[in-house]
Formats: sequence, structure tokens, C-alpha cells
Amino acid sequence: MPETVTLLIAPLAADDTATPLSSTFREVDASEPALRVGELSTQRGDGIFETLAVVDGHAQEVGPHLERLRNSAEICELPAPNLAQWRAAIDTAVAALPATGEFALKLVLSRGVEHGPAPTAWLAASPAADFRGVRERGISAVTLDRGLAHDAAARAPWLLLGAKTLSYATNMAALREAHRRGADDAVFVSSDGYVMEGPTSSVILRHGEVYSTPAPSGAILHGTTQLSLFEHLEATGRRTEYRDIPVADLATADAIWLVSSVRLAVAVTRLDDRDIAVDADETNGFNVYLLSPRD
Ligand code: PLP
Repeated sequence: MPETVTLLIAPLAADDTATPLSSTFREVDASEPALRVGELSTQRGDGIFETLAVVDGHAQEVGPHLERLRNSAEICELPAPNLAQWRAAIDTAVAALPATGEFALKLVLSRGVEHGPAPTAWLAASPAADFRGVRERGISAVTLDRGLAHDAAARAPWLLLGAKTLSYATNMAALREAHRRGADDAVFVSSDGYVMEGPTSSVILRHGEVYSTPAPSGAILHGTTQLSLFEHLEATGRRTEYRDIPVADLATADAIWLVSSVRLAVAVTRLDDRDIAVDADETNGFNVYLLSPRD
């Protein structure tokens, strides 16, 4: 069975229920050219994406990922995606992947070639990196100034902060800066002193019995993994809260995690120059839940 699957998708209008969905995408060889040069050179990262996990043949949290794709499209004023079409493409890709193992499945919707007829869309699934080590050992992180106030989204909506846009160059630069500083990952903090998110993850803190994460004010991406984990924590009798989290709260946290769809939950074992206690059992419990089939 192939370990990678790539589908080129002709995006349907959101309200199109007549077109047979399977006629709107086709598998292509990912090692062969499939996109026009104009796609990459003129669209300026003007598009959106989603990355979801496929675990042992089950696509995780498809509904929340498609809802965020829809929300990102709205923020970016892209044509609303036809969610039934994306769901059919995901089902087709998952059916073509091996029934065991972890895969990353990426959905991309870009504005397409400048002055072109339509948006460009594709789906690409490939084996996930092996994150078992970091899930067990945890990671080190540094705080990095995001250069924006925590309420920036309201004052400057054109920054598209709550959308998962294709323009991840600054997030990747933050990761390189973290590596230069000897750390594995980064935690963005706002210029006015609040915790935001990781470059590719959400931040969860625990103080005593309470789990908290920054309020989804539109300045950060609302993570599907954080949402799902909070539902699980609530369902198992734990207290969760969304709030504005001052940077000082990082120093008083009993535990800190970075969570995301494919790496799942990793404990932060060191932040800047401070060691952080690690509850290996709790992190393991999070990942047992996150690896279970979730819709
Ligand atoms: N925040 C940012 C900036 C991200 O890029 C991501 C995921 O890539 C997340 C948060 C976590 O989102 P999710 O849990 O849906 O993967």
C-alpha cells in the first residue's frame, strides 16, 4: 500500500450538492509536477491549510478541522469550501493509506494563479514523523516576543491572525530562532506580556487542579487538539478555563504542554532558564486519549 497519497481537487461551490463528489478530485503522483509555476510565484502565500492526523486508519477530528478551514476561508475572503467535498477527499485518501500507523494529512486551499479562473486545492497525506520520543521525554522551549499585542486581531484584522494561512514563514523563523537558542520549540508571548501559542501548537498550563489556555481572541489559532483535550478533561471531572494568561504565570505553572494535531501532547520540561516539573503519567494519559479515534 502507498505511504503517500496526493489528490488534486477542483473546488466546488459550498452549496453545490449536485456534482458527484468523486469526479472532482484525482490522485496524482506527488513526485511529478502537478501545480502551475504561477501557483507558487504569484499567490504570495494567499491561501489556507489544515493538517490533521490519521491514526490506524482513522482521520482525527475531521469536523473541527473542516470547521476551522471554513472559518479561515471566511477570514481570508476565499470562496467558502464545500465541506462534503473535502470530507469525501479525506475518506478517499484514508482508504488508500495503510490501516496502521500515524500519517499527517494536509488540506490546502489557495487563491490560485493570479487572474486565474478558480482557487487551487489539494490534499497530501504522508507518514508522520516519529514523535514517540518527544511525547515521552518532553521538550525544551524559549519564550519569543510575537511583536503584537494580545488584542491585535481586533485592531488589525487584516493580519488574519485567527486564520491558518499558508504564510508560515515567520512561524518557521521562530522555530529556527528557538533552535539557535538551544531549545526545541518556542512559546510566543505578546508585546504586552501575555502567553499566546507555539509556532505550530497551542499552549496548556496547569496550576494545581486547573488547566488553562489563552482565550481564543482571534490573535491565535484556536487549536483542535486543545479543544478536544479540554473536552476530555471536563468529561473526566477536571476544571478547564480560557483566560488572558500573563507571562508571569508560566513561572508558577505546575506543568506546561504544547499540543498539536500530529505531534500531540508534549510536556515542556524546560522554559527559558527554568526546569519545569514533568508528570509523565499525565502526559501519557493525554496521548492515549489523543491517539484514540476521535471525531
Ligand atoms: N497554533 C498554531 C500557530 C498552529 O500552527 C497549530 C497547528 O499547526 C496549532 C496552534 C495547533 O492546532 P491543532 O491542534 O489544530 O493542530
